[in-house]
Amino acid sequence: MRIAIGGFQHETNTFSPTPAGWQDFLAADTWPGLLQGPALLAEMTPAGGAQARNIPIAGFIGAARDEGAHTLLPLSWCAAGPSGRVTEDAFERIVALLLEGIALARADAVYLDLHGAMAAAHIDDADGEILRRVRLAIGDDIPLVASLDLHANVSPLMVDSADLLLVYRTYPHVDMAATGARAYAWLARRLQGMPRPRAAWRRIPFLIPICWQYTGAEPARSLRRLQEALDSDTLAAGLAMGFPATDADKCGPAAWAYAASADAARAATDRLAAAVEAAESGFAGDILDARDAVARAQALLRSPGATGPVIIADGQDNPGAGGSADTTGLLRALVAADARNAVIGLLVDAQAATQAHAAGAGAEVRLALGGKSGIAGDAPFEATFRVMRLHGGDVDATGSVFKGYRLTLGPSALLQIGGVQVIVVSRPVQLLDLALLRFVGLAPERLDIIAVKSVVHFRADFEPLARAVLLCASPGAFALDPSTLPWTKLPGDIRRKPASP
Ligand SMILES: [Zn+2]
Repeated sequence: MRIAIGGFQHETNTFSPTPAGWQDFLAADTWPGLLQGPALLAEMTPAGGAQARNIPIAGFIGAARDEGAHTLLPLSWCAAGPSGRVTEDAFERIVALLLEGIALARADAVYLDLHGAMAAAHIDDADGEILRRVRLAIGDDIPLVASLDLHANVSPLMVDSADLLLVYRTYPHVDMAATGARAYAWLARRLQGMPRPRAAWRRIPFLIPICWQYTGAEPARSLRRLQEALDSDTLAAGLAMGFPATDADKCGPAAWAYAASADAARAATDRLAAAVEAAESGFAGDILDARDAVARAQALLRSPGATGPVIIADGQDNPGAGGSADTTGLLRALVAADARNAVIGLLVDAQAATQAHAAGAGAEVRLALGGKSGIAGDAPFEATFRVMRLHGGDVDATGSVFKGYRLTLGPSALLQIGGVQVIVVSRPVQLLDLALLRFVGLAPERLDIIAVKSVVHFRADFEPLARAVLLCASPGAFALDPSTLPWTKLPGDIRRKPASP
């Protein structure tokens, strides 16, 4: 059989002022730029013993090749970093590419690698619209399967349009490729004659702050296990935690399931949704301001016993959720507290990186660093820095989330002021992989404080060596507390944050 495969991923923070345009989808960043046809297969599954990539479509291709039963017809695939809405131009061009490919492919089945929290300038439920148009193009009899991010905002239109939606179960997302492989296994069973499964869907009546969606701790850990327990050859359960910064009617977590009968699908969905609702007050924890976070880190470093660095998550300036990754609040607090053997990154400032490269390694350079995105409460940090190290910015990841990735940071520099070092890059990449410290000569285990512009993803790679992890809210485009956002489209009966105990 012939399976057409493609993808279009974007996580939209509608409160971010920066849109995602056509050029953003063409360019490589954390993920490759726009891929079409044979280049899609070649890029996603590199030959010559290179590591398989932790990307859903790469997992799908790998599983299909391992089985060798079906022919893959590559359509187009692209992604852009989280930001404001996708422009109408970009959305329509990319969907047209997918639909042109589908029309030519005359496939027996279609797989799409989607995020699920995309909003376009002209369409709030952009993923629902993609699936609706693809379903319209292929008709009701061709199986249509999609994989989604754990942060998807899943709508009834999405569930109705696809045969099957499978979602990552881990955050940090170490199972992106595994989710693609699961999608292949289901699609292969459909192609062997399994009838289209019946679906059920239920909305969860509250938003879950992204920092409490971490599946390594409760309550998210048990919810992940419950999905695994519900799974069988004939039943697939899904829980998307939602992306609580997409101002759309459908924003928020949802549970759904597929089974041979509508009753079985509904029972599994209800069980999953009831477990999330019962856990509501557990989605909570400490969030410190920058000064308190640094003071707490310094106190932890003075207390005997534990070893390793204290990690401070600069959670509101996470480029993985639409943050600009250039705010200076936590940097200021580290310098003001005279922190020692500390590093913060990855701070985006292409201009400062260029100035550092012009000055050269070892030179001192006066900079107005970061703070250029107009974020409330933020401003450039003006000071003299020593240039410690320069780098072109191509880095091969080594951790489990970015497995198999070549990261393109653009011209980069390690700067020092007092006991604080700053990793400055030209393009936003989330500091979630230890290779993103080592590339400028830092030994993570020998640092005392590591401040990361990330909220949860860093935990996969950093937590094993950390003395402690602290969560900090300093200025940034991504609100850790979604109840503070100026929602206009979220229904009134959806709680803006979980109720307290
Ligand atoms: Zn995600």
